[in-house]
Amino acid sequence: MLTNDHAICIRTVDYSETSQVVTFFARQTGKVPMIAKGAKRQKSPFGGPIEMFSCGNIVFSGSGHDKLATLAEFEPIAGVTNYSVLSADIFAMNCCLLAAELANALIKDYDPHPGLFDSLLRFLTDASQKKIANDGHGKILAHLVLFQLNLLTEIGLCPVLDYCANCRNRFDVRWPEVYFSNHAKGLICRDCQGPFPDKIRLTTEAAQCLADAKLLALAGEPALKNVEDILIRYITDALGRPPKMAKYILNS
Ligand SMILES: [Zn+2]
Repeated sequence: MLTNDHAICIRTVDYSETSQVVTFFARQTGKVPMIAKGAKRQKSPFGGPIEMFSCGNIVFSGSGHDKLATLAEFEPIAGVTNYSVLSADIFAMNCCLLAAELANALIKDYDPHPGLFDSLLRFLTDASQKKIANDGHGKILAHLVLFQLNLLTEIGLCPVLDYCANCRNRFDVRWPEVYFSNHAKGLICRDCQGPFPDKIRLTTEAAQCLADAKLLALAGEPALKNVEDILIRYITDALGRPPKMAKYILNS
């Protein structure tokens, strides 16, 4: 049976001299690992090797779930995600690689998440725009944080971000101190922080961004780095290991 879908490439591995194993995140089907036979041949049926973040229509067969599917057709749509802009900006590229890594690690195969597909496509498209890539690290970090929050919400792991996860008091900018605890799965107020030794202090600006994602677009780079650090620690806990790309984002 052949399946048609709209998909983004989120992982590629060389399989042989001529073939690749490619993981597509497809809008209706979800994440599907598949073999792209002959992709690296001179006369590739896909117009060349399949690139990370390329996006377009795929046709694949053998979605038996217990073995690799086989890619039959791929028609990339030019200009949606722009690999050459990303290649010129190592930080934007690393942010995109982290987003793809997290989607691959946290979404199960054949588990559709069309809303998250749209969110990833939006993130990659925005990151591919020169004006965002040239605007320091802040803009791209704000987009990355938004994608990660969407991802955590979609898979049912979103932490508590607008009230204290312990006493349930709503977050307020007048809180004298704000913390985040992986153990509590969310924000913690000063009165409750005692029994949470894993807590990390958040700046008020960072906590405001977490409580209201609309503020991310206006946030300064230090607050965004504070937020990203919190999210990476939280995702590391969920995965049981740090994401491979995390150190390239946090140490830059
Ligand atoms: Zn509290």
